[in-house]
Amino acid sequence: KYKGPSYDNLMSVRKERLSPALGTYYSTPFAVSQGYKQWLFDLDGKRYLDMYAGICTVSVGHCHPEITEAVTEQMSTLGHISNVYLHPKIHEYAEKLTDKFPGDLKVVYFVNSGSEANDLAVLMARTYTNNFEIISLRSGYHGMSNQTMNLTANSSYKYPIPSMPGFHYAMNPDVYRGLWGGKHCRDSPVQTKRECSCTAGECKASTNYLEQLGDVYRYGIPKGRAAAFFAESIQGVGGTVQFPKGFLKGAYDMIKNSGGLFVSDEVQTGFGRTGEHFWGFEMHGIVPDIVTMAKGMGNGFPMAAVVTTPQIAQSLTKARHINTFGGNPVASAVGIKVLEIIEKEQLQENSKRIGTHLLLELEKLRQEFPVVGDVRGKGLMIGIEMVAGDGSKTPLETAKLMKYWERCRELGVIFGRGGYFDNVFRIKPPMCITKEDADFTIAVMKAVLYEMF
Ligand code: PMP
Repeated sequence: KYKGPSYDNLMSVRKERLSPALGTYYSTPFAVSQGYKQWLFDLDGKRYLDMYAGICTVSVGHCHPEITEAVTEQMSTLGHISNVYLHPKIHEYAEKLTDKFPGDLKVVYFVNSGSEANDLAVLMARTYTNNFEIISLRSGYHGMSNQTMNLTANSSYKYPIPSMPGFHYAMNPDVYRGLWGGKHCRDSPVQTKRECSCTAGECKASTNYLEQLGDVYRYGIPKGRAAAFFAESIQGVGGTVQFPKGFLKGAYDMIKNSGGLFVSDEVQTGFGRTGEHFWGFEMHGIVPDIVTMAKGMGNGFPMAAVVTTPQIAQSLTKARHINTFGGNPVASAVGIKVLEIIEKEQLQENSKRIGTHLLLELEKLRQEFPVVGDVRGKGLMIGIEMVAGDGSKTPLETAKLMKYWERCRELGVIFGRGGYFDNVFRIKPPMCITKEDADFTIAVMKAVLYEMF
């Protein structure tokens, strides 16, 4: 039973002592006292199904006993030591993590957050190529550090300060809301009738969006002087946007032809979440030059990393580079355990199985309710785009969106929101959820759809 401060006390400390820049979710902010596996408990002990996992972060389940044990054991052996010394855990983790990568992606630099990882990737790409220009996709989210807020391309995350030079944005290849494409253009278990002019062999949407990306190079970047192209494998904050087939492969070829490196931001899509593959980039048939990761890597423990090739890693030795906590013994112990649990409990396979089931069931809701505009995703990285329901793609009005979302919480299901209009419900639960949890989610979503629409 919860014995901590009251809800009102938490609210007043929140208002007075925590930065007002920290947002809260729900009109009555949600206070959580405990977590276990795929569940959260509020201060009164009411249980909720956590379909958001602390924004795609709790990968193997809240309070996994083996992680608790690993942390306790490591904390009582050696809690922290700078990575200038050798300690067995960082070496064991470096080997086990890089074993998960194809090709020459065999060298890791450990840091503490996704923003830090992407910051470092920008630096590596620039020092390795001796080029400066970086391209990312509109609606992508790559962090909020001084540098990564320039990679992030969404005005909701922009302050009225000058953008840094050297950052360029390409049209977002969003086949639902964008100019070209349709459901068929993306990799999905949901099969519906063709809505686009693509043929089986060629995705025209992909070609068109690549043409737009080409314009960024043609009109904005000195010839052959790009440093890097950054993309998520499926956009997370941007609203679970899946790119048309072939787009990232084309983007890969383009950046290589322009002297730069391909950086895959796997902060949300890594560690088996997309089900079919351990890393999201694998579904696009490419091997990036640099991969950044965070979130699910530590199941909630603050840790992140940049993995790259030995040659690119070498570029950072042009100056001294220090990160105090990166790969510290406790972080490494957690990281090793997360990898072991994903494998032992077959969580990647579970992501695929339960994710596919959820997508197919959600698609049935889409066919029944016109306010469900689009259902997309892969594995346990799912987006449900809510629209006015009048045949247009006008986002569902905020009041209704909020009411729907809050009602689902009342009935015991937590999920997130995203996309430029904040009208995409985001489902990214701990990867240990069961079919019963998925069915419960669908039942709640359906009941509230009946109630409201
Ligand atoms: N990249 C992606 C794809 C993300 O979703 C996020 C966080 N939402 C980040 C980078 C930044 O990570 P952090 O908040 O740990 O700095």
